[in-house]
Amino acid sequence: MSESEKVTKREFKADIVKLLDIITHSVYTNKEIFLRELISNASDALEKLRFKQSSGVAVADAELPLEIRITTDKENGVLTIADSGIGMSEIELVENIGSIAHSGSEDFLKALGSDASKASSIIGRFGVGFYSVFMVARQVVLTTKSAEPEEAAWVWVSDGLGGYELILAEGEVTRGSSLEIHLKDDAKEYADPAVIKDIINRHSHFISFPILVDGERVNTVPAVWREPKTSVTAEQYKEFYTFLTHDPEAPIETVHMNVDAPVQFSALVFVPAKSEEFLGFQKLERGLDLYVRRVLIAKDATELLPEYLRFCRGVVDTEDLPLNLSRETLQQNAMLRRIAQAVTKEILSRLRKKAAADPEGYAALWKEHAKIFKLGYSDFLNREAYSELLRFDSSALDGPDKLTSLADYVTRAKDGQKTVYYLSGTSREALDMNPHLEIFRRKGIEVLYLYEPVDEFVLESIGDFKEFAFKSAEQAQAKDLASFDDAPDAGEAPAALTPEETTLFEGLLARMKEVLGDRIKDVRGSQRLKSSPSCLVAADGQMSSQMQRLMRMMNKDESAPEKIMELNPDHALTRNLIAIYGADPKDPFIDQATEQLYESALLLEGYLSDPHKMVGRINSILEQASGWYAGLKKGS
Ligand code: ADP
Ligand code: MG
Repeated sequence: MSESEKVTKREFKADIVKLLDIITHSVYTNKEIFLRELISNASDALEKLRFKQSSGVAVADAELPLEIRITTDKENGVLTIADSGIGMSEIELVENIGSIAHSGSEDFLKALGSDASKASSIIGRFGVGFYSVFMVARQVVLTTKSAEPEEAAWVWVSDGLGGYELILAEGEVTRGSSLEIHLKDDAKEYADPAVIKDIINRHSHFISFPILVDGERVNTVPAVWREPKTSVTAEQYKEFYTFLTHDPEAPIETVHMNVDAPVQFSALVFVPAKSEEFLGFQKLERGLDLYVRRVLIAKDATELLPEYLRFCRGVVDTEDLPLNLSRETLQQNAMLRRIAQAVTKEILSRLRKKAAADPEGYAALWKEHAKIFKLGYSDFLNREAYSELLRFDSSALDGPDKLTSLADYVTRAKDGQKTVYYLSGTSREALDMNPHLEIFRRKGIEVLYLYEPVDEFVLESIGDFKEFAFKSAEQAQAKDLASFDDAPDAGEAPAALTPEETTLFEGLLARMKEVLGDRIKDVRGSQRLKSSPSCLVAADGQMSSQMQRLMRMMNKDESAPEKIMELNPDHALTRNLIAIYGADPKDPFIDQATEQLYESALLLEGYLSDPHKMVGRINSILEQASGWYAGLKKGS
């Protein structure tokens, strides 16, 4: 046979010529993606072979290991990528990378428009990733042998300009494809094994077939997420987690999903034992790493997790998306949204199971990640699951390390109680002393203790829980609680006011209102207090003081809100004031005491802006009291 008989020259399809013209003549910042595309093709070819083999069809060279072999020849500037995959017959060569139009090439050209520089970042999306090799190659020699036992081996040679040559391969060729890339002068670095290994580590580490660079295995961590759940050991999960996060501690929870419909994807998500924010990181833009067919597309894709689950780490891998999706379009991708929803549901469901089976473990998880998790109050789709996962400190618990769920609160509710009560404060100690809780303690009604500004938003946003409404303890009206009996250990009720005292008490309240003027909405007798003389309460329909504080902070308003002051008729101080008022309604001590009670209440609520006046008044009251006491001592 003569030379010309052995070689067939063929031309590329017109739009591929156009595409190649752009690829070979443009300047790119990330040429290296050609390697990702070629490894992805090799992996696809191996995947197809594996499928064929698993369906019992005979293949050529059945004993060949399934792997990708990369060899570098620095001296000659040649890089070779070989796989033992499905290979191509002559017809397939022409169809797949030659003359027959890829529907993708036209779309690619259209998407490219006049900006050739973005070719490298979008090429893989259009099923024309193979041609990216011409960003770095002056000549490509592709030798391929189909897995069909009868097919011959072919060599495909092209400089990426007008066309290519097809030659029947000589000598011994085994199944698969081998791509010999003769590098351009400005791309010689890709014949350096260190450079190649680095690119593989960044882009193709989890390809599930071994990748060998000059005989050395590079991708040592297999794509565990693609394996069936039953075949992955705890040790393998942990290893992958460590690789992913560099966290030496084992994760608290591992969620592994292999889903086929409606979208095909695998997900492997971990809940770290320690919050990263604890380590001093600021708010992290975490998400899940997105792989398409084991090729990394985007690290920390926030599209794959709602903000409140971003303490989780992990990966999603799908067959159903094109390679080389651009980061910008991830957000609009409906398929990704569906995956994110499925992943979210699964994480929540797993957390619920953990909370039920291992409450202490869940409490530990809560302690680490609650700060982020609480941001989920706006996820209405998963409101129920979210609500059940919330944990709180509460008046019914006996230690700072215990927590309650809303469901547990509900089981402890009184007969006829249809409200979950809560109160915001800076600490358990502060709340234990809050006068608003006195009536709740007396009646044995539980109150959730909230310590963070976001907590009230959480409860207000979820609105209700199992037909229980949420209400701040300071907004509870005495009549709301009247139907509940005092708890057995509430102690004896003090003697009621006589009719005469009651009239004087009314007068005293009016007098106090006069003293406080428009700083206060009203002064009234209290049924909620036991050991405190007075407190400030919100008028019906007003925001809780925590909410008001937040609003005021946002509006930079430092004045105290107008509230109602309640006076405990049973307190010794009140009884003394009634006596003083009875003797002289205009006694200046009443003014002083009223001011002091008001400011003490402001102080407890965090509104006292100027303590100087208050300290002055306390000193003056102490002076008077000590004077009387000294007189008393002298007289006795
Ligand atoms: P895509 O991978 O999106 O289909 P490419 O341009 O990367 O687009 O590849 C085009 C086609 O060429 C592939 O679909 C496949 O049929 C064929 N091909 C490329 N590389 C190989 C290979 N190493 N082994 C077998 N077939 C291959
Ligand atoms: Mg491809």
